[in-house]
Amino acid sequence: MTRTIGNFVPERLEQALAARGFSAIELAARIGATSTTISRWRNCVQVPSGEMIDRLASELRVSPEWLTRPLQEQISIPYFRGSISQMKADRALLNARAGWLDEVSRQLEMYVDYPDLDIPVKNYKKLSEITDTDIEDAAEECRERWGLKNGPIADVLLLLENAGVIVAREETGTPRIEGLSAWSANGRPIVLLCADKGNAYRSRFDAAHELGHLVLHRYIEDPADAAAHKQIEQQAHRFAGAFLLPSRGFAAEVTSPVSLQGLLFLKRRWGVSVAAMIMRLVALGVIGDSDYLRLIKLRSAKWGNKREPNDDDRDPEQPRLLKRTVDLLSNEGIVTADALPSMLGLSARDVESLLGLPFGLLGLPKADVLELKLKTDLKHMSPDEQVVSGTYSEQTLSNVIDLGAARKS
Ligand SMILES: [Zn+2]
Repeated sequence: MTRTIGNFVPERLEQALAARGFSAIELAARIGATSTTISRWRNCVQVPSGEMIDRLASELRVSPEWLTRPLQEQISIPYFRGSISQMKADRALLNARAGWLDEVSRQLEMYVDYPDLDIPVKNYKKLSEITDTDIEDAAEECRERWGLKNGPIADVLLLLENAGVIVAREETGTPRIEGLSAWSANGRPIVLLCADKGNAYRSRFDAAHELGHLVLHRYIEDPADAAAHKQIEQQAHRFAGAFLLPSRGFAAEVTSPVSLQGLLFLKRRWGVSVAAMIMRLVALGVIGDSDYLRLIKLRSAKWGNKREPNDDDRDPEQPRLLKRTVDLLSNEGIVTADALPSMLGLSARDVESLLGLPFGLLGLPKADVLELKLKTDLKHMSPDEQVVSGTYSEQTLSNVIDLGAARKS
């Protein structure tokens, strides 16, 4: 049940604070209130005045009305990659944004049918039940189910979206966390990927890692201690390796003795970093400890630990399902893109980011607009002599997400 006081929903304030990474003290200073007042609002002791709701909304970049919307049932506890003690605020931020993603995708789902859920979800209860063979089999099962042979995967996000997963990829300012997966109360999985590192290879692996959580860990309790957390992460990593680099197809292409140059060649073909390929070769038993150490040492001596050659020769995969939904609704005249921020109650920038729309499509807040004037002599040119930039044109893509046939209204 959502708590309300007056019309005000304190959980909305909590969610927006987390999503913006603001502390209560920071917010108090911004809106000219005391932090005691804010804590009274948060604890349902006092209701903010209409004027204060307006100020809150403006600082938190949500609509005033949004602060009065009842909260829907929350997403299930997600698993975070990284150390368990990692910054609490960062985790809260991702959690809040995943909640927003869930909410906006469900609002749009009132108008369209998303692809049916098509993921082999295992019902393991304990981590110790899951063996390496189980993980390999689960990854293989996904590949078979989705019609993949033993070759490289062209686009991981497209597969996830076609299997019914809601995906967003956005810059969150939390580079130490790569992403999270969660389950919506309506049974649909959600994956939020952090785009901060801008590396296509890592991003593909992150997506496959989150898929591993969805397949393997749906019914596992939240890891209680650091050891369990480490194990859950290792399992998702193993899954990602198995999914992206299937033993039959990949191992057959690795030449012996394994060299960095040979792996760099395979990196381009398989879309997986050399580091992740080395880990996969260990998991498959193709190389032993001594080869592993030799390659890892050589790799960091030659390339350092942060980047590898050819990291930039691929663009990060982008989610498309929600953007296509918006295009469809807009083309059919059901919901115009401009109306989305007020419909969803969030800022234009949030809507663009969560739905994968081009930045600026929904308009910029005034402070972000540079006021430019046309040069006097340009004013006299005919319109087609002028260069018009910044218009939004959709590039037609050849890939397909099954969407749209079944519009509900
Ligand atoms: Zn993880």
